[in-house]
Amino acid sequence: MLVEMFHMMVMKLIYDRKMTSKEWSDFDLTPRAKKMIDQREKQVNRYHVNGADEGLFCVTSVLSIENRWTVDVNARTCDCCVWDLTGLLCVHAVAVLLPSRPSWTMFSSPYYHASTYKKAYAGKIVPLPEQILWDQPAFEVGPPGRHRLPGRPKGVRRLESDEIRRASKRQRICGRCKLPSDHNARGCQGGPIGGNTKKRRDPRPPREPKSPRPRRVTNTVYNRPKVSRGPRRRKAAMGTSGESPGC
Ligand SMILES: [Zn+2]
Ligand SMILES: [Zn+2]
Repeated sequence: MLVEMFHMMVMKLIYDRKMTSKEWSDFDLTPRAKKMIDQREKQVNRYHVNGADEGLFCVTSVLSIENRWTVDVNARTCDCCVWDLTGLLCVHAVAVLLPSRPSWTMFSSPYYHASTYKKAYAGKIVPLPEQILWDQPAFEVGPPGRHRLPGRPKGVRRLESDEIRRASKRQRICGRCKLPSDHNARGCQGGPIGGNTKKRRDPRPPREPKSPRPRRVTNTVYNRPKVSRGPRRRKAAMGTSGESPGC
């Protein structure tokens, strides 16, 4: 759909320009170039023209003689460089050539000639028929098959010679000196010189003095007052058994 729209647009543009340029003379400039020359013709009274040689002139400003330009008609150059770069006469060159009323086409680049414009739009774009009338292709054209190359694919893009790799967003912090740095605790050299690395950053609050611990009683049996026991039953039993044989 987009391609058809673009096709229609270009076709119409070429046709319109071809029809417009049909009226123009081949030995003339394009209307746009002619308009620019006309504007410069109106500014000619701001300059004085002083001849130096055949085809060589010095153009000075009416306001100040300090502002001056050398115009070489044969080489088609001017100190302002407009004639050299654009191919269309600058205001200084117009000031030089205007008294002789030349053909501006002769002194302008062929890019500004009406004949060149006509050549540019000489071609045509044929209208595109309705999609139903298009020829059906014999086979469907798809994208080329993917071919996997040997080796592991690269995860990181190769940089250009003038490209700088962006620094990683995460800032590493050394485990020993606790400073954001490019080393770790193993390669740490103690952080910046003059700092006391062993000093704690936030010291702990001082401990409260210890109160005496109450004595812990584990077994209450030992604290019992000793009670004198009577003779053991066993002995008593032995005594009774000893008596029996005597009876
Ligand atoms: Zn100039
Ligand atoms: Zn460190």
